Amino acid sequence: MILGVFKLTSCGGCQYSILDLGKSLLEQKIFYFTEISSSNLWHTFDVAFVEGSVTNDDEKELLLKIRQKAKFLVALGACAVSGGIQAIQRSKKDKGLIFYSYPLSDFVSVDLELRGCPVKSEHIEETLFSLSVGSVPYFPDYPLCIECKRKGNPCLMITHKILCLGVITQGGCGALCPSLNRGCYGCFGPVKGANLKAFFRCALRMGLTEEKIREIIMNSFNGYHQIFRELYDK
Ligand code: SF4
Ligand code: SF4
Repeated sequence: MILGVFKLTSCGGCQYSILDLGKSLLEQKIFYFTEISSSNLWHTFDVAFVEGSVTNDDEKELLLKIRQKAKFLVALGACAVSGGIQAIQRSKKDKGLIFYSYPLSDFVSVDLELRGCPVKSEHIEETLFSLSVGSVPYFPDYPLCIECKRKGNPCLMITHKILCLGVITQGGCGALCPSLNRGCYGCFGPVKGANLKAFFRCALRMGLTEEKIREIIMNSFNGYHQIFRELYDK
């Protein structure tokens, strides 16, 4: 397949998840990937991976051009899916923002979101394999709590009174943080149908204020995801 890998505003970490594929990456025809080559070609891409969020007009223009050239466009990681940690400044009351940070889906249609900060190499591999055999890649669309249950982890919220965003976060990481007794901070972003009201009720019972809970979500890596935007109006 002909691939393009593009970077907007981001740390570059998700591109390294692509490089982590190692030798299997050599099976692909990579026409555009500035992180590894200074010779890049615009072409019709079978798959375009776009890392990073849109923070200026040049990036918006680049994204529109990528969309025109890509048969299948993948938003790579929390920055591309939700605006990333650089969108956190929106939550500050005394704005004075240096720039705004937007997810790709605010400007173009996105064919697949790969979640995480950074994304998992296995998910990139699965995407390439599925597309190469003409099928659509499938990733978990259930909350992270399911993965905790499968692993037999006791719930951190109930047993240790540790706040954990797992109940509103999309699964896929294998419950990495709760398995190490650390609350999930939502790097996989909100799960479809996330029940924010129920989450607020649980967190309030733990003694947090509404304002604090809102702040924690808005300051998470996916705090500017569409599903969380209602919190900005309060
Ligand atoms: S999603 Fe995380 S790892 Fe990926 S580019 Fe953004 S900040 Fe870096
Ligand atoms: S547990 Fe949460 S914060 Fe940790 S890796 Fe998984 S989704 Fe990310």
